[in-house]
Amino acid sequence: MRGDVLVESQEKAPYLFDAARHHATPIAVALPESSLDQRIALEIARDLKIPVITRGSGTSLSGQSVGEAMIIDTRRYLRSILQIDLDAMRVTVEPGLSLTALNTVLIPHGVWVAAEFPAGAEGTIGGMVGTNAVGRSALRYGDTASAVHAMDVVLADGTTARFGAFGDGGEMVLSNARLNQLIPQLFQIADGDRIASRASGIHRAMYRGGYNLAVFPSPQGQSGRSTSSMSGLVNFAQLLAGSEGTLATIQSVTLRLKQRPAHRAQVQLAFSGLDHLISQQAEIRALSPTAITFRDLDPRGRILVSVDFHEDDERSLQQRVHALEMLAADLGIVHVMSSGVAVSAIGSDQDVERPEICFDDCLVPTPSMMDVISQIDQIFVRHGVKGGWHGHAVAHGFYLRPVLSYTSVEPTRLQDIQAAIGTFVARFKREGYSRDLYSKIKAAFDPENRLNPGRIALPGG
Ligand SMILES: Cc1cc2nc3c(=O)[nH]c(=O)nc-3n(C[C@H](O)[C@H](O)[C@H](O)COP(=O)(O)OP(=O)(O)OC[C@H]3O[C@@H](n4cnc5c(N)ncnc54)[C@H](O)[C@@H]3O)c2cc1C
Repeated sequence: MRGDVLVESQEKAPYLFDAARHHATPIAVALPESSLDQRIALEIARDLKIPVITRGSGTSLSGQSVGEAMIIDTRRYLRSILQIDLDAMRVTVEPGLSLTALNTVLIPHGVWVAAEFPAGAEGTIGGMVGTNAVGRSALRYGDTASAVHAMDVVLADGTTARFGAFGDGGEMVLSNARLNQLIPQLFQIADGDRIASRASGIHRAMYRGGYNLAVFPSPQGQSGRSTSSMSGLVNFAQLLAGSEGTLATIQSVTLRLKQRPAHRAQVQLAFSGLDHLISQQAEIRALSPTAITFRDLDPRGRILVSVDFHEDDERSLQQRVHALEMLAADLGIVHVMSSGVAVSAIGSDQDVERPEICFDDCLVPTPSMMDVISQIDQIFVRHGVKGGWHGHAVAHGFYLRPVLSYTSVEPTRLQDIQAAIGTFVARFKREGYSRDLYSKIKAAFDPENRLNPGRIALPGG
C-alpha cells in the first residue's frame, strides 16, 4: 500500500477523539494515497481480521469516527475532484475532499453542492454522506442523501461496485455475483418488514442517521422521501447515506449540482427565549427562507436567530426580506438586514467564533423541541454548568446541538456531562428505528461485522 501507516501512540493521537470528545484508541491508522491503496488497506484489515473505520475529518459528534479498529484516513490524500459534468449537473469527488474546497472550485462555474455548514466544521464529503449531514440550509436544499446521485464503494468482502439508481433505465447494474446476491436480498428484507416500519409513523426525515429505508417503494408503489427522482428506481447509493461507514467504504461520490443563487440576504432577529422562537417559527417558515438558524449563548440570555434567503430574482428577495421585517416589527423583535453578507446586530463576530464544546446532536420534531431542551438543560443543571444551544430548522423540526463554553467547565466533569447527554440523545435518536430491520440490512452487507462495528446495528440483532 502506498501512503502512510501510523502505529505509534504519538502518531495515532489525532485519531483518538471525535469533535464531541468520544474517545477510543485505534489499532493502527492507514493513510492511503489512492483509491487502489484504499482497497489494499481494506484487504490488509480483512486478512488480519480487524475492524475498519473509514474517517474523514472526525468532526462528527456521536463517536462514529473513533474505535478500536484500523482507521482509514481519507482526508490526507483522497481529495481529488474526478469529474465536473455541467451538462448533467453532477460532480464526482473522492471522499476526503471538504465541501468548502469543492464549492470554492465550483464558483467560476456558477454551481454548487447546496449545503452549508458552520465555519468550524470542515467535514469531508465522505463524512457528510456517512452521517447524512444536514447543513444550515437543509430547510431549502434537503439533507446530504438527497444530493447523492451515485457512489463507488468497496463492500466488506472486497467487492467493488457502483451504487446508484437501480431499475428500468437506472445506471446501477448487477455486475458481479456479490451484487446479484445482495440486491435481491435487500428487496426481500424491505418487502418483509417495510410495512411494519412505516406503520410506526416515524418518518426518517427526523432521523438523519441509520439506514435510509425511504429509498424503497412504499406498499402503494410510491417511493419514499429521498429516492431517485425517476419513479420506479431505487437509489442504493442513497441507502448508504447516513450508514456511518457500517455497510460499505466509499471511494468516490457523485453529487448533484445546483445553480448558485444570484442573490442572498440574511436578517438577524433576537427572541426573548426559545419558546418565543418556537411559537413564531411557523410564520417565519411561511416566508420560504433558505435557513433559520439560532444560538442562545448571547450574554443577555436572548436567542439570536438568523434567517437567510436565497433567490435568483432580486425583487422577490427584497419582498421576502420586507415581509420578515414587517413580521419582526409586529412581534416587537430587534432586527437588522443586510444583503449579501451576514451582519451581526446582537452578538459580535467574535462571539460567533468563540470556541465551544459540542455534544451529541439530534434532529427534533418541532412539537418535542421544548421538552428535549428542558431535559438536556436539566442535565447541565445537575452538573452545575450553564449550557447553550445551536440549531437550525429542517423540514419538520430542528437540528439541535447542545454546547458549552470552554471556560465554563472543568475537564474532569466533561466526560460525565457528555455521557449523560449522549445517553439521552441516543435514546431519542433511536426511537423510530426498526432495530430488527437494521440488523438484517447490516447482516446482508457485512455479515462478519467488520465495518465500523457497534454503530447503528449488529448483524443478527
Ligand atoms: C461545530 C460543528 C458543527 C456541526 N454542524 C453540523 C450540522 O449543522 N449538521 C450536521 O449534520 N452535522 C454537523 N456537525 C457534525 C459533522 O461535522 C458533520 O456530520 C460532518 O459532515 C462530518 O464530516 P467528517 O469528515 O468530519 O466525518 P467523520 O467524522 O470523519 O465521519 C463521519 C462518519 O462518516 C463515515 N465515513 C467517513 N468517510 C467515509 C467513507 N469514505 N466511506 C464510508 N464511511 C465514511 C465515518 O466512518 C463516520 O461514521 C457539526 C460538527 C461540529 C464540530
